[in-house]
Amino acid sequence: MTKGNINVSVENIFPLIKKFLYSDHEIFLRELISNATDATLKLKHLTSIGEAKVEYGNPKIEVKIDKENKKLHIIDQGIGMTGEEVEKYINQVAFSGAEEFLEKYKDSAKDSGIIGHFGLGFYSAFMVAEKVEIISKSYKDEPAVHWVCDGSPEFTLEETTAKTDRGTEIILHIAEDSTEFLEDFRIRELLTKYNKFMPVPIKFGTKKETLPLPEGAAEDAVAETVDVDNIINNPTPAWTKAPSELKDEDYKSFYHELYPMQFEEPLFNIHLNVDYPFNLTGILYFPKLSNNLNIEKDKIQLYQNQVFVTDEVKGIVPDFLMLLRGVIDSPDIPLNVSRSYLQADGAVKKISSYITKKVADKMVSLINENREDYEKKWNDIKIVIEYGMISEEKFFEKSDKFALYPTSEGKYFLWNELEEKIKPIQTDKDGNLVILYATNADEQHSYIQPAKDKGYEVLLLDSPIVPHLIQKLETSKEKIQFARVDADHINNLIKKDEPVISKLNETEKESLKKTVEESINDKKFTVQLEDLDSTDAPFTITQPEFMRRMKDMQATGGGGMFGMGGFPEMYNLVVNSNSEFASKILANENAEEKNNQIKYALDLAKLSQNLLKGKELTDFIQRSYKQL
Ligand code: ADP
Repeated sequence: MTKGNINVSVENIFPLIKKFLYSDHEIFLRELISNATDATLKLKHLTSIGEAKVEYGNPKIEVKIDKENKKLHIIDQGIGMTGEEVEKYINQVAFSGAEEFLEKYKDSAKDSGIIGHFGLGFYSAFMVAEKVEIISKSYKDEPAVHWVCDGSPEFTLEETTAKTDRGTEIILHIAEDSTEFLEDFRIRELLTKYNKFMPVPIKFGTKKETLPLPEGAAEDAVAETVDVDNIINNPTPAWTKAPSELKDEDYKSFYHELYPMQFEEPLFNIHLNVDYPFNLTGILYFPKLSNNLNIEKDKIQLYQNQVFVTDEVKGIVPDFLMLLRGVIDSPDIPLNVSRSYLQADGAVKKISSYITKKVADKMVSLINENREDYEKKWNDIKIVIEYGMISEEKFFEKSDKFALYPTSEGKYFLWNELEEKIKPIQTDKDGNLVILYATNADEQHSYIQPAKDKGYEVLLLDSPIVPHLIQKLETSKEKIQFARVDADHINNLIKKDEPVISKLNETEKESLKKTVEESINDKKFTVQLEDLDSTDAPFTITQPEFMRRMKDMQATGGGGMFGMGGFPEMYNLVVNSNSEFASKILANENAEEKNNQIKYALDLAKLSQNLLKGKELTDFIQRSYKQL
C-alpha cells in the first residue's frame, strides 16, 4: 500500500473549493459523469483502432445511491486506471489542476456564473463529499487499485481484488451538509438537467417493463413484468445526426424531448452543422410566439460534446434570436471566462454571425419553397425577423428576400413587389416613394378606408418595434418615405392627378380659418385649410409623422437615445374647405350656433382618432343625447 501527500501548496484545498463554489455544488455529478463518459469513449476508440484487445460491448454508466451508508456511486465500464495512472492522473494532474484553479480564481471566483462553467474535474467531488474512494481496473492486464482520500492532502493507494471487471467506480461519502445528494429526486433532477443527451447510456435504478404475451396465450393470461435498467438519457439526440437522416417528425419529437412542458408544435427548425473554422452543431426552432407562456423558461441550451452547460446564451447567439429555442453544441466556446470577454472573443463572434447567416438562408429557402405557408407563419415570426433587421446589418442586407410587408387587406409583399405596386400612384412631387402604413387596423380605420378609396395601398405594420424598422428602412433605402395613415403628410405628399377645385375664395378661407381657430381655442391644434374632395370629412386630425414616431420610439425602448424626453402633444386640424360643412359655417350668422357646430365637429374628429376621453367624452355624449 502507498501512502502519500498530494503535492499541493495550499494546505487544505478542499474547504477552499467548497467555499468558492458554494452555489454550484451540484456540478460535481456532471463532472464525474463526464469523466466516466470520456473513459468509455476512450476505450471505444482504442478498441476501434485495435490497440485495446478487449470486447467493447454495450457499456453504460451507473449512478447508485446507498442512502443507509450515505454513499453515492458512479460506476463506468471504460478504460479504467492502473495504480500508476491513478498516481499520475489523480494525484498529480487532477490536483495540480485544482491548485492552478485556486491560484487563478482566488479573487474572481465569487462570480459563480463563471465558475459553474469551469471544467472542475474530478476534485469537484470534494464539494459534496468528506471522503472519496476510487476503485479502478484498467483494460490492461493489471490488478485493480483502491484509492482513498478524506479531503486532506493525504491519500492511500493499494491493490485490491475487490474489483474484477474493467472500469472505474467512484464512491462519494456524502458530507453532512450535502445530504440532498442522497435523495432520489435530486439526483434524477441533476441527471436530467446535465446528462440528458450524453453519449453513453446512464442507468439510474430500474423500472418495470411488461413483457408482451406469447402468441396464442390464454385469454386470461397475465403479462409478465420484469425489472429493466432505467436509462435516463438519449445518447444520440437529433442534433448529432445528419440532417438527411431526419424527417420533420424527428425534429418535432426532439423539440418535445427538449421541452417536455411545451405542447405547441414549433413553426420550423434550422439544423446547424459546421466544422470549419469552428465546430458547431445544433438545431434551432422558431416557436409560435403568440400566447406563449414559457418564453422565460424554455431557452436555447448550450452543450459541449453533449454535456449541458447553460441556457444563458447571450453573446453566443445574437440578441434577436434569443426568442428561439433549441440546442447549440460546440466545444469551441470558451466557458471559463466572463461575458464581456465572450463578446470580444473571435471564435464566438464568428459563431454568432454564422448563426445569423444560417437563419437568413433558412428564411430564403422557406419563402421560396412555399410562399403561402410562409405568409401564414409571418405573424408569428415577424418580431424576430424585424428585430434582426434593425440589429444585424448582415441580416438586414439579405432581408429583401424574405421580409414581408403585409397590407391592411391581408396581402403580403416583398420589398420589390411593394415598390413596383405603389410606384405609379404613391410617388410625391420630389420623386419619393410614399409608403402608407397603419399600426392598428381598428383604431385607424377612419383613415385607412379613405386612403384605400383613393386607390392607395396601406400596410399594416403592427409589431412594437415598427418605428425603429421604418427608421432603418428610410435611412437604408433611396428615396422612400413612410407616413402613417393619420399623419400630416398624407395630404401634402400625395396629390391626385386631377387638380381639386376650390369652392371658397381666399377671403372666405381666411374668415373660415379664423372662425375655427377662435372656436376651438387650443394651442395643441394647428388649423390648416385644404381643398379636399367635397365628400372627404370636414374635419380631420392628423399628427406630424416625425413627432409621433419619436414618441413611439421612446415608448418601445429607444428612449433616451437622443437624450430627449416628453415630446409635446401636437396635432393638425385639417379643415376641408370644399366640404358642405365649411360652407354652412361660413354662411351661419348665429355666432353661438356656429361655435357649437365647430366644437361638435372637432369632437367627432377627435372621436375617430381615439382622442376623446374622460370628461370630454361624457360631455359629448350628454350633448348628443340632448340634441336627439
Ligand atoms: P480532466 O477530466 O479535465 O482531465 P479530471 O480532474 O476530471 O480532469 O481528471 C483527471 C484525469 O483522471 C483524467 O484526465 C483521466 O485521465 C483520469 N480519470 C478521471 N476519471 C476517470 C475515470 N472515471 N476513468 C478513467 N480515468 C479517469
